[in-house]
Amino acid sequence: MTTPDGQAELMPALFVGHGNPMNAIEETVYAAAWRAAAAALPRPTAILCISAHWETEGTFVTAMAQPKTIHDFYGFPEELYRVEYPAPGSRELAERVQQLVSSTAVRLDDGYSRGLDHGAWSVLRRMYPEADIPTVQLSLDRRQSARFHYDLGAELAALRSEGVLILGSGNLVHNLRLLQWDASEPYPWAAEFDRLAAELILAGEHDRLVAYQALGESARLAVPTSEHYLPLLFILALQQPGDAVSFFAEGLPLGSISMRSVRIG
Ligand code: ZN
Repeated sequence: MTTPDGQAELMPALFVGHGNPMNAIEETVYAAAWRAAAAALPRPTAILCISAHWETEGTFVTAMAQPKTIHDFYGFPEELYRVEYPAPGSRELAERVQQLVSSTAVRLDDGYSRGLDHGAWSVLRRMYPEADIPTVQLSLDRRQSARFHYDLGAELAALRSEGVLILGSGNLVHNLRLLQWDASEPYPWAAEFDRLAAELILAGEHDRLVAYQALGESARLAVPTSEHYLPLLFILALQQPGDAVSFFAEGLPLGSISMRSVRIG
């Protein structure tokens, strides 16, 4: 993509707070916000998704021609298990990711066991319901730090000038142990951390967000494990000088989940 003056146009990068998988089939404010966020973007050539729900030993990228739809949750209505998201894969994008990343070895996963998990498809079904854009997932390395994942995100920056949509899918507040299905208000610490993170995101204070464990008690409760938070760091690492930063969804349902979603660029 180029602008009229010949500059490479950068595809925005998105972090989506995915929350409850039912957003895939219920008409919620979040489903509407995700649809609107996609409509405001140029059409991607391909999508690279970093989901909270794929943690591995080492770093993997999906490379199969037709990734399957993985229903990786329990106790939800039958209708949700019937959802299929048949987007094609892209070995070309998987190999491009492998080529761009030098900080660690990226391995191709073209086996039958992997595909798109609900962190990817529950959101993509709303953004691109036709499922016609090649989609690849990159895993989180459960042995590695927040800094490792931020730095890995930065290595993917060239994809933005190649028309690839990089999509992080997690939740910046995510405490399932304290989740309340009937909550009418968020926990005070959830609201506090959500507000603090929002301020730091807008201020470009990425080092403080990477070192989130130093942000106090609210961070400890909001991010008890890192997998839903790390996809946010991938996206922040893609920020370039001059990029606008905005939020296209917000909300604190179930007491301990933040749906705050971020657009970079
Ligand atoms: Zn999740």
